[in-house]
Amino acid sequence: MSSATEKNDALLQVNNVRLDFHTYAGEVKALDGVTFLVKKGEALGLVGESGCGKSVTALTIVGLLPENASVTEGEILLAGENLLAMTHDQIRKVRANKIAMVFQDPTTFLNPVLTIGEQLEEVFLLNSERLANVAAERKIEVEAGKEEQDTSGAAPKLARSRQKKVAKALSIDVLSQVRLADPERTLKQYPHELSGGMRQRCMIAMALARNPVLFIADEITTALDVTIQAQILELLRELKRQLSGSTLLITHDLGVVAELCDRVAVMYAGNIIELADVKELFANPLHPYTQGLMRAIPMIDRRMERLETIPGSVPDLIYPPSGCRFHPRCPFAFEKCKLEKPELLHVGKGHTVACHLYGEGKA
Ligand code: SF4
Repeated sequence: MSSATEKNDALLQVNNVRLDFHTYAGEVKALDGVTFLVKKGEALGLVGESGCGKSVTALTIVGLLPENASVTEGEILLAGENLLAMTHDQIRKVRANKIAMVFQDPTTFLNPVLTIGEQLEEVFLLNSERLANVAAERKIEVEAGKEEQDTSGAAPKLARSRQKKVAKALSIDVLSQVRLADPERTLKQYPHELSGGMRQRCMIAMALARNPVLFIADEITTALDVTIQAQILELLRELKRQLSGSTLLITHDLGVVAELCDRVAVMYAGNIIELADVKELFANPLHPYTQGLMRAIPMIDRRMERLETIPGSVPDLIYPPSGCRFHPRCPFAFEKCKLEKPELLHVGKGHTVACHLYGEGKA
């Protein structure tokens, strides 16, 4: 549940989204009324265990769901426009111009038979107006005799050779922005010639190339070794300072959220169960699941033999538990928890929680 002021500040609103996967084993009720918003200019962390619905939520936003998925209820508004009501072509334009997503494994998403330069150039060539502006600003010309007319027919702003020259200049800029040491060389390389960290930087560069209003990063440090993870986190921190758009950062790592995010939403079994400012959530976690996650983090000022764990595992979403989906694992569960799903309630400034222990739902 979001206040009127929060809705006015919102870039993205996800409202009561329900989604099922149709499988041979049965209907997987993957999202069970997911509701949250991302404000303009903020970084929101979406955290939870594997299988809780974080990545499915992101794929629903960008319209990249597999064919066996169906959204049965809800809306996703980007600056007031419902992404779920858009045609295939309309959502493709949104992905090309407004929302960029970077995934965990860059190898799967980079084209292995094109150089990084060719892949970046494709992104820039989609926006001929921007190329024309940059060419005018930087006074980019091509050598006499090399100028050729664009025959694409779609209101060309520049000849193709000039567009390509501008796209190359912008590609070098964006590869420098993600701190690749030799951008000109990287442009000529194929993905297999780069390390995992460099490939991830190229994916981030491709996302930035679109100048998105929303940047979605899905577990982008998980597949990297620890030193490269630290470098990518440092890069994200720098980009957050430089960029004006919003970020949705999906991770199971609360340490990453603490470093990079303004607010955090905690997900469990297809529901948002708590949402607050990062400082507030770390100081005052209210939901028993969030409290369990916090106790599972090693703390420098807390001496313990073993880290605590949350007993049990994420439920089978073909047969989700009734009422509160967390009740089979919750040490505080009482009768009402098995019968009624708790709604998200405001319990303090910007802090919402879905648990019968709070508000009128108390035992
Ligand atoms: Fe535990 Fe009940 Fe709260 Fe769910 S609603 S988290 S089962 S106390």
